Parts: sequence; C-alpha cells; structure tokens
Amino acid sequence: MNTPPFAQLSWSEDGQPFSTRFDDVYFSRESGLAETRHVFLQHNDLSRRWRALPPGTRFCIGETGFGTGLNFLCAWQLWEELAPADARLHFVSCEKYPLRREDLQRALALWTELTPWADQLLAQYSDLAPGWQHFNLADGRVTLTLLIGDVLDTLPQLDARVDAWFLDGFAPARNPDMWQPALYAQLARLSAPSATLATFTSVGEVRRGLQAVGFEMRKVKGYGRKREMLCGTLAGAGAAAWSAPWLARPESPAGERSALIVGAGLAGCATALALARRGWQVTLIERHDRAAAEASGNTQGILYCKLSAHQTPLSRYVQASYAFGLRLLHQILPQGQDSWQACGVLQLCTDDRERQRQLALAEQGYPESFLCAVDADRASTLAGVAVNRPGLFFPGAGWVHPPSLCRAMLQHGNIRLLTHSEAMSLQHRDGEWQALDDKGRSLARASVAVICSANDSQHFAQTAELPLKPIRGQVTQLPATSSSKTLKTVLCAEGYISPARHDEHHVGASFRFDRLDTEPSSEENHSNLQLIGQLSPELAGHLQLETLDADRLPARAALRCTSPDYLPLIGPVVDAQAFRERYAELAKDASRQPTAPAPWYPGLYINAGHGSRGMISCPLSGELIAAWLNDEPLPLPADVVAAVHPTRFMLRRLIRGR
Ligand code: SAM
Repeated sequence: MNTPPFAQLSWSEDGQPFSTRFDDVYFSRESGLAETRHVFLQHNDLSRRWRALPPGTRFCIGETGFGTGLNFLCAWQLWEELAPADARLHFVSCEKYPLRREDLQRALALWTELTPWADQLLAQYSDLAPGWQHFNLADGRVTLTLLIGDVLDTLPQLDARVDAWFLDGFAPARNPDMWQPALYAQLARLSAPSATLATFTSVGEVRRGLQAVGFEMRKVKGYGRKREMLCGTLAGAGAAAWSAPWLARPESPAGERSALIVGAGLAGCATALALARRGWQVTLIERHDRAAAEASGNTQGILYCKLSAHQTPLSRYVQASYAFGLRLLHQILPQGQDSWQACGVLQLCTDDRERQRQLALAEQGYPESFLCAVDADRASTLAGVAVNRPGLFFPGAGWVHPPSLCRAMLQHGNIRLLTHSEAMSLQHRDGEWQALDDKGRSLARASVAVICSANDSQHFAQTAELPLKPIRGQVTQLPATSSSKTLKTVLCAEGYISPARHDEHHVGASFRFDRLDTEPSSEENHSNLQLIGQLSPELAGHLQLETLDADRLPARAALRCTSPDYLPLIGPVVDAQAFRERYAELAKDASRQPTAPAPWYPGLYINAGHGSRGMISCPLSGELIAAWLNDEPLPLPADVVAAVHPTRFMLRRLIRGR
C-alpha cells in the first residue's frame, strides 16, 4: 500500500522539527515565533490593517506551506487581539506533505504562548487525507481551509480573494519545484486589489517572478541573521483569462445580513448554522412541528462515505464533506445512545468488482485512521459478528440520530425556527425576499433566501425547472437481542444494519422509484430483513429473524431527493428563461465564451438533492453557501463547485440544443 504523503521529520536536540525530505528547517532555529511575526505579520502590515478593519468584514490570508501551522496560529492570535469582534479571518494554506497529528502536537508544544490556539486546532486535526480540509474555529470567527496536495495543482482550483500572502515553503534552492512562474501567476490571479505579500527569501529570481505578475517588490531587513527578505503589494494584475460567468460569484445583496431558509432538514439546518456563525440573522421555515421531520428524520443515519478510486467530483465532494462533518459532530454533539456513535463503519464487499474498487482505494495512501482495507477475519473481529467478507473500514464513521444533529445545529442564538409554517412561494420585492404561505401571507422576509426543501424545491417558480427526483426509502426497526448487541460497528453492503440504539437496530434501506408515498410497506420490511443475511448470517441468527413478523415490524419510509447525476445542487439560482436567452449562442457552438453576467436571482440559493447521503453531504454544503454569500474562499476545488452548481443542468441542456 502507498504510504500517505506525510511530512518526514527529524527532531533536533532542542525539539525543533527538520524536514528530511527537503533537508531544511520549518522555521528559524533562533526563534520561529519571532521570525513569523517579523516576516509574515509585520511585513503584510497586519496590525495596522486589522485595527482599521470595519466591523463585520472578512479578511483572507493565503499561504504556501502550512507545515506546523505556526504562521496560522500567530496570525489567529493577533487577529483575536486586534480585529473587530464580529470580523472573520479566512486562512487558506496549501500543503503537500501534512504533518501527522502527533508531529504537529510535538512541534506546537514548543510555543506555550500559543497553547490556547494550538489546542483548538489540535482538537480538530487528525492525520489528514488528501483533498481539501475545512475547519471551523472560534465559533466561526476563523476558518482554515487546507488544500492538501501540490500547490501547483491546488491553487488553480481555488476561488478566493486573498488580502495577504504568506509565501513560505522551504528555501528556493531546496524546493525549486515550488518556486515557479506558475505559482506567482496564481498568487496574482487570487489577489484582492492591493493585496500584500511577504516571504522570508530574498532570491532575485523570486523577486523578478513576482514583479512579472504585477507585484511591486521591496527588499527589507530579514529576521535574525538573515540580511534580507522580500515584501510587496499588487500594483496591477494582468488581464484575467476568461471564466464562465455562470460560475462567477453573484454580487451579495446589500443591507442587513438576514436569511430565510425554507426547510429544516439536514441541508437547511447546516445552512442555518453556517450563516448564523457568520453573524447572519436566520429564519428557518418548517411546515412540521419540528426540524428533521421528513427524510432527515430517521433514527439512525449512517455515515456511509462511499468513495471512488477515480477521484470523481462526487467522490471528492463526499470525502471533503465527510471529514468536515465528523469535525462538526465532535464539536457540537456529545456521543451517546441518543445522539451518535463513532463506532466505525464496515463497507463489505458485494462482489469481485467491488473488492477491486476497494483495494484500489486503499492503495491511494489514505491514513489508517481514515480508511483501511480489512480481510474477512479482521472485519469480523471489528464487527463483533462473523461477516464472511472482506471490506473497507472507516474507523471514524458510525451512526447519527439526524434529528439530534439538526437540533444541535439550531442551538445557535442567531437562528429562529418557525414551525407549522409552509412556504408556498417566494417573492422578491424592494430588495428583499418574502416567503408566502398558501393564502399569500408573509411568513418571513430577508435579504437572502435559501431553498432547502428537497423535492418540494420544485414548487417554487424560481427553481421549478431544476431536475430533482424522489426515491423512496424504507428503514425497518428490529428489537435487539442479547447476542445481537455484540454488533459493534455499522455493516454496509447491499444495505446496512446499525449497532443497537436503545435496544433497537435499524436496517435499510429500500430504493424505490415507483412508489412515492410514505406509508411503510411490509414488502420493504421483508426485503430489508433479507439484507441482514447477506451482511452477516451469524447476526441474522442472533436476531432470531424467524420469530419476527415482518408485516408488523415498525418501519419508517421517506422520500430522498436526488438529481440526474446523483450530485447535490448547492449554490446560487439563475432565472432559467433569461439564462437560455442570454447564452443561446452555446446551443450553436459550445466552445463560445460569453461574458455577459449570469441572470442571477439576487440573493437566491438552493441546497438540495443530497440523496441518501445527507448525513455526509450536508455539513459542508452549508459552508459552501455561506462562502458564496460572504466573499470567502470556497471550501472546495473549482471543478467540484461546478459539479454541484445548480446551473449545470441548464447549461447541459442548452449545449445539447434542448
Ligand atoms: N508555514 C509553516 C509553519 O508555520 O510551520 C512552515 C512551512 S515549511 C518551511 C514549508 C512547507 O511547505 C512544508 O510543510 C512543505 O511540506 C510545504 N511544501 C513544500 N513544497 C510544496 C508544494 N509544492 N506544495 C505544497 N506544499 C509544499
């Protein structure tokens, strides 16, 4: 198996980390802390800029080389000291070889002054899998997005407006592959007007490279024994390459930061929390008497992280959201029989092809704490029952009681849940959205509206054309027996069964396109029971299935909401008719590059279509919507953002001439 691309370190006698791969230090031997403050904080003029920040604004730092996170923690510490209490710091850092958690902990122990911030980071930091990793810190006041991979691959996928750059990343002579014109071009592309940049090096080639893309560079006194370093300001970037206007950022509505969200399932609650954490006043409109009453209302949702060895956009979306979702769960929901359990999930092989898929995935250098391939013996030991099949084990996954998660997400003081209220239409008037009930009465008003009502999203005129489709699923509840309680992990294959919660197991789920009611059926109970024998004949015996009357077993049926490509729809909404007219030329020639701005509905977003994987897929969707709305770095690579963008279907139809 490939080893994960972690940092390879040796440690000096005084406890300083050294990269054996690059043959270089992570920071100055004299004082890393003082060096960081001198080079990166002082020469980006952060103290002055942060003192002068207007309330409620955001500031974005970009970094090449996260390393030990020392620069990040120093910036965060200064931010707390100087920035307005309601301003938000977004720190995006590229890292090809992340430190293992234990190495990060050891390195950060050097700086007792930073312990309060280091502890918060370490509470969420695990051995990181490849891909983008998003962290919400200080209750949303600080976000960290780590782009794991080579900076020359990851930065071109970033959508951000960076105010200050920390150009770190080992000395140019030790790491020549990174210090390339292609990197400087990305720094210029991603910079806000007048963005600043600082770097410890004073190498002439670096200075000239940065000047060539529009930075005005100065040589200044370096830290300690280093005579010189470089800092600069973007004076004027070159012409930007064409980018699709339907993926551009719509202007955020002016005025007060208020949002109305339709639907209090997982997608709506995740969106509400992400906005509330950023200081938005959120009204969540729900037709039932509580949140999570429909498809998000199952008793045991499974954290089933299904990945593809081909790293498809869906797979990368799922992986990033799964990792963020686990961080969120640990942050806001204590584990227990009522709420959730990180008991691990075993994805058992269904056939040879599936085994090949699993082995190919396990070969891709994931940390063992993220996923590992197991044979049937090991799988049985982990499960506590014989499973007879090899599989993939996700030790951090488990089951969640989705309503508990939704309730925990709604605890934020900026969220108001409006129950027994059914929004039937949305109207935009005088710069505000209004949700109206069936009698045309106003339920709520806000500058932004987010439609999170799954299949019912099609009831709104503005999103009626989005191709959402329902799939019915039924979960059956089974009484646990003393021997079935030996099941320790969730088992998944053709279906799934969870370890007992309050003396009950849940087994599911059916997939039916033909039936769109939510009455439980005995037929689906029967097919669910059959799944158990496939997962583990021993467990089927423990459960004494022959003594159960499948027709009478309690069950719950609900309608999932999916899209034709099985990816969710997350992002801003356009006027479909105006879109077709504006970009009609694409029907004749798909290679045209229109520049007219997309006909966005001002401040209207959708977050829907999470299918049966809402538990995994929803947490990051809220962050993505919030990032769109707050001019933050998007927490996902541009091709994944495009793959979940609501305009994709309209565009495809237009290009195919339909
Ligand atoms: N800023 C760090 C800190 O606060 O600890 C120190 C950074 S260390 C000097 C340089 C980092 O750049 C290393 O962690 C290294 O793995 C990373 N790096 C080097 N080349 C890279 C590349 N091409 N893409 C992404 N990261 C890279």
